[in-house]
Amino acid sequence: MHEYSVVQALLEQIETIASENDATEVTKIIVKIGVMSGVEAQLLEIAFNTFKEKTICDGAEFVMNIQPLTIVCRACHIKSELSARHYCCPECESIDVEITDGEDMFLMSLEMV
Ligand SMILES: [Zn+2]
Repeated sequence: MHEYSVVQALLEQIETIASENDATEVTKIIVKIGVMSGVEAQLLEIAFNTFKEKTICDGAEFVMNIQPLTIVCRACHIKSELSARHYCCPECESIDVEITDGEDMFLMSLEMV
């Protein structure tokens, strides 16, 4: 499953940050998941709960913020959030759009003690 490798990379990233800050425990993790990132939130949570055991993240709350696909239309310059996966401006129906958000998944915030 793709999400397993995503979580392993995430845990490595968190452990690096935690050791840099001399933290002994991570209490809260907030990640942003773009709808077009290819990461399924439900699978990510399962993967996280599988891999967190015996890591610094064992007791951490795992919060996932789903980021909609955000575009800026090159024709009318209106910024829109799209719920569906079609790259089209809802205002003027132009397909000449630039994707500005919703394509990636990353660590937003970390709370640790
Ligand atoms: Zn437009």
